[in-house]
Amino acid sequence: MPVDRRAFLKMAGLASAVGIGGGRIIEAAALDGAGTYKATTGALAGKRWAMIIDVHKCLEQHDCTACADICHKIHNVAQFNKPKNELKWIWRENFHGAFPEQNHEFLSEELHHSTFPVLCNHCDDPPCVRVCPTQTTWKRDDGVVMMDMHRCIGCRYCITACPYGSRSFNWLDPRGNDEDGKPCLETINPDFPTRTRGVVEKCNFCAERLAKGQLPACVEGCPGGAMTFGDLDDPESPVRKILHDDYAIRRKPSLGTNPQVYYLV
Ligand code: SF4
Repeated sequence: MPVDRRAFLKMAGLASAVGIGGGRIIEAAALDGAGTYKATTGALAGKRWAMIIDVHKCLEQHDCTACADICHKIHNVAQFNKPKNELKWIWRENFHGAFPEQNHEFLSEELHHSTFPVLCNHCDDPPCVRVCPTQTTWKRDDGVVMMDMHRCIGCRYCITACPYGSRSFNWLDPRGNDEDGKPCLETINPDFPTRTRGVVEKCNFCAERLAKGQLPACVEGCPGGAMTFGDLDDPESPVRKILHDDYAIRRKPSLGTNPQVYYLV
């Protein structure tokens, strides 16, 4: 659901007036009035961004976590020591959790015992957007499902609505310490906002990097070249070519959310 500038400013003003949401605004990564990052010369432009994950290339890296490590580091995703407090933008899920509709008793041993990177699917018809009462989350014209954490009131309707577990809630102060007294953020990337307790967060397809002409950090950081990002609207894009030549699956397709993350299995 695209949000026009007037509606965006109205919601931003409302959030600020009642003191909700949280997160230190850092100019380099601040959202503008149209709900997007300020584009610089060379910004990547697309009409329908999508990601493809080649499971075979990924498995060759043997439970590698490079994509999650770089993502969480540059986005200041706090690391808590207890699973109940965990924040994650991209993480590994076993086959049965990731693809319950593709599971069957004759599944190969390799797939049966492996885990796969999962993230927000930037669904074409995102239920999280429909339920958000403050328009904290919305779908951009290029398909990226965005969040402005400053407007989040922590109702967690979006967490309930997302069928992929792609959203995390800051139960504790992400700028503070975990329950063992260790800082949740070892280092802070000054080019991306930190968050506060009581707000939801998730993958943003590295919208702040696209605006600077950079690919998503996970795509760049994958040592096995297992991730491809591009514009499905462009017939010459690598993502279009891969999907034309190979068979890909998506997570829980029967739900009709139309995920824009594809897996080559
Ligand atoms: Fe929303 Fe979940 Fe789809 Fe991401 S994966 S767009 S959080 S419903």
